Amino acid sequence: MANVMISVKDLVKNYGDFNAVKGISFEVLENEIFGLLGPNGAGKSTTLEIIETLRKKTSGSVQVAGYDLDESPNIIKGLIGVQLQASSYYPGLNLLQLIDLFAGLYNQKVDGMELLRSVNLEEKAKAKFKELSGGQKQRFSVATTLINRPKVIFLDEPTTGLDPQARRNLWELIKTIKAQGTTIIITTHYMDEAEYLCDRIAIIDAGKIVALDTPDNLIDHLVASGFERPREVKKPTWKMYLSS
Ligand code: ADP
Ligand code: MG
Repeated sequence: MANVMISVKDLVKNYGDFNAVKGISFEVLENEIFGLLGPNGAGKSTTLEIIETLRKKTSGSVQVAGYDLDESPNIIKGLIGVQLQASSYYPGLNLLQLIDLFAGLYNQKVDGMELLRSVNLEEKAKAKFKELSGGQKQRFSVATTLINRPKVIFLDEPTTGLDPQARRNLWELIKTIKAQGTTIIITTHYMDEAEYLCDRIAIIDAGKIVALDTPDNLIDHLVASGFERPREVKKPTWKMYLSS
């Protein structure tokens, strides 16, 4: 049986009076791609950022690789790869220099060209971040999650705003990272993306998980519950899980 890499139990997050995450529980298994799928405001980023130690939870428990978030946040930080905000890409530095800088911060020796090659950005080694296309920026940002050789990486809507070809390229990159043994947790609001990439999907709406299963089972369930068209013609949409 696969090991549990992330365990979230009864997670609650309140922003003042507002209950953004309403007691959700799920497990992410080692080496799976686990998707949090849902509309804007569902609580996806909040959930991710709590697991990433970047945001405080209100209650509930979180474990990563067996380490408790409350007791061992620094160990967890060392095990995970987080996408940096665009603001951390110092404008004067090129991609190779940025990787060297981040590697230094993580106390890691990294072959920058090799890393850039792995995300198909070798030719952009001397370019500045702002000179990249949308898809190249996202691939670079995914590359930076790998610098500390993490067990788990977190991707928050990595393909939002990309054109179809750039999305495809990023999907292939994410699959390659999985094939190398990394566990991946990704948020998206695209069902097709979740279906293509994810081993399991939690559909989250208004701070609650409304379904959690493999993509195939989720779609079978939609079809069984009265969705009649064959999926080749028109795919059921995860929005059917949301309360109307
Ligand atoms: P998602 O990533 O699924 O779009 P978020 O986790 O960003 O959702 O947000 C969930 C809810 O919490 C939204 O209603 C959002 O407006 C609210 N929210 C997020 N961050 C804050 C914050 N710092 N202060 C107050 N409300 C917030
Ligand atoms: Mg978000």
